[in-house]
Amino acid sequence: MNPEHFQIAIDGPVAAGKGTVSRLVAERLNFLYVDTGAMYRVTAYLSLQHNIPFTDIPAIVELLKKTDIQMHNPSPEEADGRLTTVLVNGEDVSWKIRTEAVGNGAAKVAQIKEVREILVEKQQVIASSQNVVMEGRDITYRVLPNAQLKIYLTGKDFVRANRRHLQLQSRGNDVNFEEVYLDLKERDNLDMTREADPLKIVSDAWVLDTSDFTINQVVDMIVSKAKVMMSA
Ligand code: C5P
Repeated sequence: MNPEHFQIAIDGPVAAGKGTVSRLVAERLNFLYVDTGAMYRVTAYLSLQHNIPFTDIPAIVELLKKTDIQMHNPSPEEADGRLTTVLVNGEDVSWKIRTEAVGNGAAKVAQIKEVREILVEKQQVIASSQNVVMEGRDITYRVLPNAQLKIYLTGKDFVRANRRHLQLQSRGNDVNFEEVYLDLKERDNLDMTREADPLKIVSDAWVLDTSDFTINQVVDMIVSKAKVMMSA
């Protein structure tokens, strides 16, 4: 059954361009952009802040249950290059959750089934009341299995690592390429091999390799397809 609102579900590996592309597609179609990875990052960020090991499932679940996570498209005052604004119990953590340490932690807490259940429910509630472009790892088959448009956005390993390296450097992080490449491979591996909702390509997804396209070309392709589908 088709959902009441139009849903664009995007999955894919690290640094495939999901965030930037999804944000721009959402802007062009006037949909809400939902970065589900931010929620796993918040979980890792909170665990680090409270010195809770990523293996202590009851403590992480307890902490997550009493945490209020709000996300919205950045307001004009918040337009500092961020793709989304993330508030944790009212505190703006949009940039604090973007470090490599938090990203690596996110891939670890994302393996916890109980954490996924809590976050998936939050994501489904968001998508039930408005048109969304939602991106992550399990959106096309777990969070929004009935989405009208499903996309698996990917790119060559080297290209993705290069993009992530440039992005980190532009934010003042002094990391070397090899470190970024190895981190990316490790995170992809964790995401694809974990037991709880691994990253995978579903049969009805449009597989889009972004390696040889500009961001705008990819955005144009997705917006055109969505418009055709919406007018059908
Ligand atoms: O997309 P991003 O790199 O911000 O996501 C951080 C981590 O959160 C991913 O490496 C992945 O392990 C996890 N994640 C997930 N399911 C999602 C979104 C992100 O498991 N829907």
